[in-house]
Amino acid sequence: MNLFNQFGIEKNTEQFCLEVEESLQATFQQLNNIMYKNGAKVLHAMQKNKLSDTHFSPSTGYGYNDIGRETIEAIYADIFKTEDALVRTQIMSGTHALSIALFGNLRPNDEFISVVGKPYDTLDGVIGITPAKGSLKEYGIVYKQVDLLEDFSFDYEGIRETITDKTKLITIQRSRGYDKRPTFSVAQIGELISFIKAIRSDIICMVDNCYGEFVEDIEPTEVGADLAVGSLIKNIGGGLAPSGGYIVGKKEYVENAAMRFSCAGLGKEIGATLGLNHQVLQGLFFAPEVVNNALKGAIFTAAVFEKLGFEVNPLPNAFRSDIVQSIDMRTAENVIAFCKSIQKSSPVDSYVSPEPWDMPGYDCPVIMAAGTFIQGASIELSADAPIKPPFTVFFQGGLTYYHVRIAIMICMQSLKGL
Ligand SMILES: *Cc1c(COP(=O)(O)O)cnc(C)c1O
Repeated sequence: MNLFNQFGIEKNTEQFCLEVEESLQATFQQLNNIMYKNGAKVLHAMQKNKLSDTHFSPSTGYGYNDIGRETIEAIYADIFKTEDALVRTQIMSGTHALSIALFGNLRPNDEFISVVGKPYDTLDGVIGITPAKGSLKEYGIVYKQVDLLEDFSFDYEGIRETITDKTKLITIQRSRGYDKRPTFSVAQIGELISFIKAIRSDIICMVDNCYGEFVEDIEPTEVGADLAVGSLIKNIGGGLAPSGGYIVGKKEYVENAAMRFSCAGLGKEIGATLGLNHQVLQGLFFAPEVVNNALKGAIFTAAVFEKLGFEVNPLPNAFRSDIVQSIDMRTAENVIAFCKSIQKSSPVDSYVSPEPWDMPGYDCPVIMAAGTFIQGASIELSADAPIKPPFTVFFQGGLTYYHVRIAIMICMQSLKGL
C-alpha cells in the first residue's frame, strides 16, 4: 500500500519532491552542524546547573523559592551567555514579553528608537503607534523610528541623527516577521549594536529575538545585545512549552523587566510554576532539533515552489536567521488552496477549512492555517496570508520534517487541481 496515497499524493508528486530533496542535502548538512552546536549548548547548560527531577516539582500560591524555576532561568542565562534571565509561563505571548521589557526599562520622557523600521504589528498598541489604553505613549514615553534604507541596510546616519540625550533604549527586530525586508543575521545585529554603543555606551540595546532562537549558532546577546526577548510558543519552547516568554540580558535590565512582570518590590521572587517546569525544560531540550526540522521544512518548501516557478523568499540556499518562509502565490485561489492544504495536513483540526476574513488591523482579508497542539504556536506548522497582490503566503514552523514534507505534497496536489 502506498501510504502517501491516502492523502491523495500521486507518485509523480512524491518523485518531484524526492528530487528536490536530493539537491538539498548539502544545505541540510550545514543545518545539522548548527543543530549540533545548539544541542551541545543546551545539554551543557542543563548539566552545569545540575538539572534534576526535583526541579520538575510544581510550586503553587506565591511560588516563593521555586528551585525549578530558578534553575530554568540559570539554564537560559547560560545558553544566552547573559547575567540573568526571566523565563515564565505567565508571560502570555511574545508581545507581552516585549511589552514587559519596554515598560520595565523606560520611564516618562525617555525616548526609545526602533532602528530597523516599524516593529511587528502587535506592538502598535504597546507603543501607541495606534492609540491604545495603557500604551507607552500614554505614559509619556516617546517613540521614534528610523527606517531601513532602500536596499534594506541600516540607515547609520539617520540613527546617529535620531539619538539624543534622552534616548534610553534601542530596539532591533531580528526576524523579518511578515515584512518584505530580509531577516538580520546575528553578525549584522552585532555591527549595528557596536555602532550605537560607540555613540553612547549606556543606551540599552534590546533585540526582539522571536523566530530567531537556535537558527544560528550564536544569539544576539553574544554580540552586545543588553536584552533579548522572545516567546516560548515559538522556537525555544520546542513545541512542548504550553505558554510563556523570556527576557535575558544584563542583570539590571532583566530585574527592571521582572518588576513590571510581577510587582515593584517582588520581581523575580514570585510566580508559581504549577507543574509546567517539566514541559518548559523538555521543550528547551528538543528545541535545537525542532528548529532544525522547521528550517529543513522551510528550505524544502522554498525549493519545491521555486522549481514550480514561484518567487520565494528567502531562496532555498540563502543564509537564514529566522524560520519564516514566504512564497508569492500570484493568485488569491492559489493562496487559499495553499492555506487550506496546510490546515488539511495538520494533526489537529485537520477537518476544519480556513476562510479569508476581515481581521481587525488589516486592510484586506487574511487567511490563516494552523492545526496546532498549542494554540497559535507558530513553531508548529502554520501559514498566514493577506489576500492582496502579490498574494504572498508566510509559512513557518514544523515540529517534525516529515509533517512539512507531507503538507507540501498535499499543497502541490491541491494546486494541480485548480
Ligand atoms: C511572533 C512575534 C512577535 C509577537 O509575538 P506574539 O507571541 O505573537 O505576541 C513579535 N515579534 C516578532 C518578530 C515575532 O515573530
